[in-house]
Amino acid sequence: MADNSAGKVLLVDDSAQVRAVIRDTLKDVFPVFVEADDGLTAIKAFVEERPGFIITDIEMPSINGYRFISTIRNMDDGRDVPIVMLSGNKDSLKKKLTGFNLGASDFLIKPFEREELLARVKSLLRMRHLMDELKEKNALLEKLAVTDDLTGLPNRRHFFETVREQLALGLRHNLKLACMLMDIDHFKAINDTWGHVAGDDVLRKIGALLASCKREGEILARFGGEEFIICLFNTDSENALRAAERFRALVKTYDFSSVYYPSIKVTVSIGLAVYPQGALISIDDLIKAADKAMYASKVAGRDRVTLHEWSAPPPATDKAPIIDK
Ligand SMILES: [Mg+2]
Repeated sequence: MADNSAGKVLLVDDSAQVRAVIRDTLKDVFPVFVEADDGLTAIKAFVEERPGFIITDIEMPSINGYRFISTIRNMDDGRDVPIVMLSGNKDSLKKKLTGFNLGASDFLIKPFEREELLARVKSLLRMRHLMDELKEKNALLEKLAVTDDLTGLPNRRHFFETVREQLALGLRHNLKLACMLMDIDHFKAINDTWGHVAGDDVLRKIGALLASCKREGEILARFGGEEFIICLFNTDSENALRAAERFRALVKTYDFSSVYYPSIKVTVSIGLAVYPQGALISIDDLIKAADKAMYASKVAGRDRVTLHEWSAPPPATDKAPIIDK
């Protein structure tokens, strides 16, 4: 069973006798039976008990089986739950069609053969199981598509998607946004001296360090080889500088000792650009500015933070604001 609710079945029938037969037939399939003798009670039971399977009569007092099914199918949690309908054999074709149109998964005419009910229920459960597996796989694929393999951080693609949303919001709400680009100093030397396993280890450790120290709402991603990027929201340049200094000092004082290399010192150069600065700019421009500032940090001796100073409004750009390669 995929989850707890999958072992729970909701039996809806105004006949206690029919419910007893169903219970007996399916006692080896479902560990838990929830019962209701009319549609209204059944809706309440569905909401409270979250069963993973429903067997329902059509002709019942208060709310009948049709209305019960359409109510369930209109609920978020009720869209996928298998529903078997039961009905007397009068007008069975019409009832069957109505039931299927409302979202029933299967239909049985009373009186039914126990073996047939059992077989149909098992077949629906198999299908449900396959669907659950598919959903899980899709969720995993979606996660993998936006996750950096090595560090487990969001990747560049996820960064652009999220920042684009935030930037759109920011434009509407006059939000301030700071972009911090961080590059590990002399990373090539680490790889050359201690090997790529050591280099990967440093990247993983910095990723974990940044992830544990970033504040809620900040967007952190591995941007490229040895580059990390962080977006801070609602931040002016003073606060952004303070945050950048905090990250720089964190990396510098972190104990990177490892089985792959002796205790080594790792530092980062950081470039910072703050938005908005007079003119509206794109994310591309903001990152470009942060990159320039980061380069200035390198030139000035590394292990430092540089804030990009906008000398003039950045040139207007007519290309799409987001690149993602
Ligand atoms: Mg009935």
